[in-house]
Amino acid sequence: MHTPYILIIYTGGTIGMIKNPKSGVLKAFNFKNLLNKIPELQLLECKITTTSLKKPIDSSNTNPKTWIEIAEVIEKGYDKYDGFVVLHGSDTMSYTASALSFMLENLAKPVVLTGSQLPIGDLRTDAKENLITSIQVASLQKNNKPYIKEVCLYFEYKLYRGNRTTKINAEHFEAFASLNYPELAESGVHLKVNDDQLYRPNTRRKLKVHKKMNSNIALVKLFPGITKEVLTATFSASNLKGVILETYGAGNCSTEKWFINLLKETLGKGIPIVNVTQCSGGSVSMGLYETSTQLKKIGIISGRDITTEAAVAKLMYLLQSQLSQIEFKNAFETSLRGELS
Ligand code: ASP
Repeated sequence: MHTPYILIIYTGGTIGMIKNPKSGVLKAFNFKNLLNKIPELQLLECKITTTSLKKPIDSSNTNPKTWIEIAEVIEKGYDKYDGFVVLHGSDTMSYTASALSFMLENLAKPVVLTGSQLPIGDLRTDAKENLITSIQVASLQKNNKPYIKEVCLYFEYKLYRGNRTTKINAEHFEAFASLNYPELAESGVHLKVNDDQLYRPNTRRKLKVHKKMNSNIALVKLFPGITKEVLTATFSASNLKGVILETYGAGNCSTEKWFINLLKETLGKGIPIVNVTQCSGGSVSMGLYETSTQLKKIGIISGRDITTEAAVAKLMYLLQSQLSQIEFKNAFETSLRGELS
């Protein structure tokens, strides 16, 4: 078997943070210390190289520039390495995983995002297991080729499709969930891969890295009593290019006239609106209730069972392609990287 070459890309986050002994505040530290902290890494049957973003960050400071920087590191090392492990803060890890899944078209190698709830230097840290197993996942091979060929997220014994995940807990080690798609693998005594659930890209196509994301979008979460003033102001923001509407249940919302008219006007300006549910699991099904029939009629896009994180990334990604309104709707409602059922 050929020894897999793995590139670890450190972007920041708790996994590589250290506590200031005086103030107790967590701060990013030099990545080189990470490998010193885990000598066990040398026992793995792969060759590890490490690199780091120019300036490691707390993932709450992530923006599309960060995604582009990560994508470029992967692009540069794509021929040389068999797999990539991206160490990332958990706060926005699902957004980054989703964004990378769209940006890395025809990806045929594993890109595994992981992080931890406790710093690597902490006695009770979850960082070691997450890091070691992520490297093992990235090293998996079948017929001398990478076994996993997609962007995934590993945390607390589970490997998920990255663009299906959501951060669900700020304290538990089990910080992520993928409510609309089964786990890709589970780590116990053995690493059990759910072969049927893996993404199968067309491996004859070459990797294409998309480096433009349009972040002129709004994410609007509805709540009972939301006012016309606030919504009108949001929808008339200058340079607004797309909206994600987080609706209730199976994609329902108020039927008040002013609200529907506002949506119609926005669509009329060529601004696509995507309907995503506020529920953590399940799907939008416009037309199931009277409270969503209007949305379907006026041409709102169905996000179906997409996560809000993946919807944000997909909207930013698709807004960069020159699609007509109809093509845009079709593209959004089609699964591009396994983000929709
Ligand atoms: N605030 C940290 C971050 O997302 C939390 C973590 O690493 O889990 O960068």
